[in-house]
Amino acid sequence: MLFIFVDGVGLAPTSQNNPLATAEMPALRRLLGGPLTSEMETARPGLLLKGIDARLGVDGLPQSASGQTALLTGVNGAEVMGRHMTALPGPTLRAVIEKESLFLKLTKRGLSPTFANAYNHGYLEKLAAGTARASATTLTVSAADVRLRLLDDLDRGAAVTWDIERDLFAERAGVAVPPIGAAEAGAHLAAIARRHDLTLFETFLTDVAGHRRWGMTAEEALRRVDGLLAGVLDGRSDEVTVLLTSDHGNVEEASSRAHTSNPVPLLVIGPLAGAFADLESILEVTPRLVELLAPEVPT
Ligand SMILES: [Zn+2]
Repeated sequence: MLFIFVDGVGLAPTSQNNPLATAEMPALRRLLGGPLTSEMETARPGLLLKGIDARLGVDGLPQSASGQTALLTGVNGAEVMGRHMTALPGPTLRAVIEKESLFLKLTKRGLSPTFANAYNHGYLEKLAAGTARASATTLTVSAADVRLRLLDDLDRGAAVTWDIERDLFAERAGVAVPPIGAAEAGAHLAAIARRHDLTLFETFLTDVAGHRRWGMTAEEALRRVDGLLAGVLDGRSDEVTVLLTSDHGNVEEASSRAHTSNPVPLLVIGPLAGAFADLESILEVTPRLVELLAPEVPT
């Protein structure tokens, strides 16, 4: 199972205001027969696209810390906090993730999940020193003592950077890493996924684009995501199911820089696609993954 988490992508109708409808995205269009918009919802053998709720029954716009907690634990982070929490998890949500992490649930049942994202040493040192706050994904992985991938993994094609093509990663981390194409990064991701029960990958480029930070445009972020997906689908072995989803909407509404209340896409490609067809909320993703990948042996 390959779990691609794209931050800040909602599923909305086709319109001139929706970059998912207007961007080229050839791999997704080939797969779905059209753009990643709500009109393309489908449930057929090997392919599922449906919108799932990210509002979590709490007023206000969905946010990253509470949404990612929901997605990566199955615990309603917004309900725990009484509101949607922005940015990185604070102490309460951190404790929830440390106890209920998807990775912890899988390793407890004897499976080997991995996080494909590459880390640089400088960031890990800041985390250790407490001068940087860990992301929900980092907490999810470290809760289960699963090894984080480093720059030497990246060198040998055994990791993928959050920006997919490595240039922004290199620039922001201040490390010398040559850029690669998005499809090549996707091929690396597919290769990692072949060797693990569950492979998680995170990109937040789409959320950055939705907020219009760093000069990132929706078109550029979506071009990279689509290129990654092209490489993944080319390199995917038949038994690997690819699941792509998000924590909240953002990039699908070009007229606003804020998050949206739209449902998020649940796109599942491969043999387990049908097993996700009844999901209604991001809260149900982790429980369903655990149920499917590591069913409890009846006693
Ligand atoms: Zn955001």
